[in-house]
Amino acid sequence: MTEPVFENTKYCKACIQEIPSEATKCPYCQTYQHWYKNPQNYGIMVVWPFLFIMFWNTGVFGNEKFPDYQDDFAVSIEKIVLIQNTKTRLITYKIKNNSDYKWRSINYLVISKKEDELITTITGIDYSWVVQPHAISLLTVKVPYVRGANSWQLKIKDLTVDR
Ligand SMILES: [Zn+2]
Repeated sequence: MTEPVFENTKYCKACIQEIPSEATKCPYCQTYQHWYKNPQNYGIMVVWPFLFIMFWNTGVFGNEKFPDYQDDFAVSIEKIVLIQNTKTRLITYKIKNNSDYKWRSINYLVISKKEDELITTITGIDYSWVVQPHAISLLTVKVPYVRGANSWQLKIKDLTVDR
């Protein structure tokens, strides 16, 4: 039995000498006892959160796609406001999300019709739009005047799932 040199000890991973248990670097052979304490590995620790975010955004962790969930959305008209002198309409749509996911960035189409005849379509994107799971979110769209149009149907083209 040899007397321990330090009070609380462990053994160096490299040279198997007895070293203080709190030592991050071996006093004998200079080996770092934890890979993350070695300054040579600091680079990877700085980079890895960015890699994580990058992979997250590209959907490596199972990204939900809107076409698989479009049946979970119900759209109705909440109100129509006619802007005086311009005949432009501000149409507020009520969008009900029956899925278990939060969605954002709506990419949409407004189809203006006269009876069943298609008159015109307009497209738009609202990046700030968000809807919580099993909730309702409103979307107001400025629809320019088109002669004869009497119905304005909103169709969701795409949404992005939000985690
Ligand atoms: Zn050592």
